[in-house]
Amino acid sequence: MCNNKLSYCYGNDRMRDECGLFGGVINSENNMQTTCFALYALQHRGQESAGIAVSNGNNIWIKKGMGLVSEVFEDTGTHEIFQGNKVIGHVRYSYGEQGLKPENTQPLLFRYRFGEMAIAHNGNLLNHYKLREGLESQGSIFQSTTDSELLAHFVAREGSPEIEEALKNVVPVLRGGYAFIILTRDKVIGLRDPLGIRPLSLGRIGQNEYILSSETCAFNTLGAEFVRDVEPGEMLTINDNWISSFRITPSPRKALCIFEFIYFARPDSELCGKNVHLVRRELGRNLAREHPVNADVVVGVPDSSISAGSGFAEESGLPYEMGLIKNRYIGRTFIQPAPETRKLGVGIKLNPVKSIVEGKRVVIVDDSIVRGTTSMQLVNMLRQAGALEVHMRISSPPVISSCYYGINTPTSSELIASQGSDEVARLIKADSIGFLSLEKMIESVGISGEKLCQACFTGDYPV
Ligand code: AMP
Repeated sequence: MCNNKLSYCYGNDRMRDECGLFGGVINSENNMQTTCFALYALQHRGQESAGIAVSNGNNIWIKKGMGLVSEVFEDTGTHEIFQGNKVIGHVRYSYGEQGLKPENTQPLLFRYRFGEMAIAHNGNLLNHYKLREGLESQGSIFQSTTDSELLAHFVAREGSPEIEEALKNVVPVLRGGYAFIILTRDKVIGLRDPLGIRPLSLGRIGQNEYILSSETCAFNTLGAEFVRDVEPGEMLTINDNWISSFRITPSPRKALCIFEFIYFARPDSELCGKNVHLVRRELGRNLAREHPVNADVVVGVPDSSISAGSGFAEESGLPYEMGLIKNRYIGRTFIQPAPETRKLGVGIKLNPVKSIVEGKRVVIVDDSIVRGTTSMQLVNMLRQAGALEVHMRISSPPVISSCYYGINTPTSSELIASQGSDEVARLIKADSIGFLSLEKMIESVGISGEKLCQACFTGDYPV
């Protein structure tokens, strides 16, 4: 029997998708292109595949493929056939083999007796295997191996021509952290899990063109204004002329994933009314207060730790320097399945600036240590570039537990920080290491800890 320490219940074959979602009813001349622009803004949330589905009221068209948005949608300017004012889009980032299967690219399109639906999903359904097994034993055939497909099967079985009515019965069966955007011929529907673990926000272009996005940075790109976050447990329907909201599941508490603030979200996004860059800068300031160090320069690991690095420098009175340069054309190293290629990835992606670090005592600020691969490589490359001392400062507490709600983390045994700070410093060969405390992390975010999921740092799982 599982207790709430889920790490005991699952092996390392869990599928974890941290993806980017977009959708809405938009009256631009080229909605494919508009959706592409939104997906470009969300590209940091997934680089393995991209897809767009468009409805003109009669039919849903879909185009998707493996790769970056720019690779999958080279020809959006000329794609006449994809015309329609209702759209959804998806960028995907998943773990291990799941990510390499073209059939798992989203949106997923289904035709059933009451019409068509395209589904875009971010997150992870904990009871996926059980639900799937149940359906398969009754003869259901699945076209993919993602948990996202379950939603369509359950909706189709409901026997209700109104998809919202079907969803009211289906959603309470799902367990986990998730956000869905669903496209039918005549509407776009957004759903968020009862605890609001995965983010989803509502925006507006002009007076009445409503859009949904995993992150508000996509609104900025489209010149849209932020309206509000979709509430945990809420189903929001966008039609041609109106939007409607229905609370499907009660929300016993809120539990937005704190890792969105730490690493995943873009610095110009707002989550729960908090700007991600400002939160990270505060994380860096608190880190400097908790773990001061005598050094010459502070370097933030690009891109996710630049804000925290600048906060650390500001608070400690040390100069902030661009001591590491990132090659922007390499995908995230984390998704490389084998340790060897992952190691290679860090070296290809990040390079030290010798003239900045040579002969200096360097503080290197990163947002998190997971397997330790990045830190080991960074310390090594800075020393090779001539750094006298390398002090590692991490703007979050040690990651000690796997995430089951959609963030890609390995099994607990692979998490280097579970070994304790001294051992981590020894393993990564740093002169010193300091992790931000749980308490100061929450204080920096500025949201009550009760309203955040911190399971990766505490092992206490809200679902
Ligand atoms: P690791 O090299 O395994 O210790 O991973 C830590 C590094 O990967 C840090 O530089 C983070 O910025 C980054 N990171 C942390 N969490 C994730 C994640 N879920 N996916 C991709 N990269 C991550």
